[in-house]
Amino acid sequence: MAGSESLFAVAQRQLDAVAERLGLDRAVHQLLRWPLRELHVTLPVKMDDGRTEIFHGFRVQHNDARGPCKGGTRFHPEETIDTIRALALWMTWKTAVVNVPLGGSKGGIVCNPKVMSQGELERLSRAYVRQVARILGDDLDVPAPDVYTTPQIMAWMMDEYEALQGWRHRPAIITGKPVPLGGSLGRTEATARGGCITVREAAAALGIETKGATVAIQGFGNAGQHAALLSEELLGCKIIAVSDSRGGIINEAGMPAEGLVNHKRETGAVGGFPGSELISNKDLLELPVDVLFPAALENVITEENGPRIRAKISCELANGPQTPEADEILHQNGVFFIPDILANAGGVTVSHFEMVQNISTYYWTAQRVNEELDLKMTTAFHDVYERAQVEKVHMRLAAYMVAVQRVAEAMSLRGWV
Ligand code: NAD
Repeated sequence: MAGSESLFAVAQRQLDAVAERLGLDRAVHQLLRWPLRELHVTLPVKMDDGRTEIFHGFRVQHNDARGPCKGGTRFHPEETIDTIRALALWMTWKTAVVNVPLGGSKGGIVCNPKVMSQGELERLSRAYVRQVARILGDDLDVPAPDVYTTPQIMAWMMDEYEALQGWRHRPAIITGKPVPLGGSLGRTEATARGGCITVREAAAALGIETKGATVAIQGFGNAGQHAALLSEELLGCKIIAVSDSRGGIINEAGMPAEGLVNHKRETGAVGGFPGSELISNKDLLELPVDVLFPAALENVITEENGPRIRAKISCELANGPQTPEADEILHQNGVFFIPDILANAGGVTVSHFEMVQNISTYYWTAQRVNEELDLKMTTAFHDVYERAQVEKVHMRLAAYMVAVQRVAEAMSLRGWV
């Protein structure tokens, strides 16, 4: 059913299930089902050919009981307010599950950056900030990069925000910046590194040896490529299958992660990697591997293919890759899935470190960033795993129980409900 259901409806349904399980107060539940605030903006932008094009954008702030809102900004031709709302909810749970003092938000612009020049993208980014600046701030809401937005776009957005503030330096207004402008070391690979740390902990809990463990990765962008590099480097795993939007490849003997990354960079696709054979994206998900990383799209593991998923551990680097129906099927079949709000929370965790460094003006070494990330992710994994054991539920429900309870407690202490 969830295939035709909107992402926001899925996000609300996930909350409903945990609210029932926790016996959540009705008002708390109803408040958490909706964003606290939404801003819809219309943006005139001068294009290179002299026309003025009108774009639409959004910023959705779901909840800020635990701290300023935090969430990425997406540039996508099929962006909808509905998707942004779902992602804002997930950000609230994600910041709560890793216990950073932030809330949840998300933003987006309906546009196709693939057909826009750098100048057009810069004018669009600045126009967006001029409109949404009224609800942004390092004490209000802090954007970050997301689908099709880059450190360069974050730099333009920060510059525009500071100009609006009379050129006061406020680098913590946005994260995912280039390092020379206050970006954090370790941010680029933080999502995948956080995911690999949760896999390490899951494997130890389940008695699975990671050295030589087989890995399949769906999606070979930022998250997928770093998952390949780090699962090999940190865990000693063997990458046997990877895919991108053009299809997948497999080699049971294993493929070197760095070679795969170089091949993708040089040819634009994973296909054609020496020694590999082709495999469809669909078949890749069903391989009997030790570790599966869904790292591309939402809703790829459903009630249809759920019964055929045979990975021992699935680490959800993508947001929303698995439907609620599939959760039950995988759980019954003994597939240990690490839910997105925990598995990919390394990105927002290092974004928080970036804010801390910006505000203190003292910058950390990459080693310190990685050590602090390890501590946060390991603690979050065990908070969730122990809850799952005690409640005898799957890891998604346990992660939601931990997160929703933390947010509900903050709302209650503030006297909101
Ligand atoms: P990206 O744009 O860098 O890469 C996406 C990859 O998915 C590309 O390799 C693309 O070819 C591939 N892809 C697209 N359609 C596909 C299909 N049908 N089948 C297989 N592969 C397909 O994006 P990213 O930053 O790596 O993000 C991937 C996922 O991880 C998204 O769901 C994103 O929300 C999530 N995520 C990323 C971060 C981060 O820090 N990068 C943080 C949290 C969550």
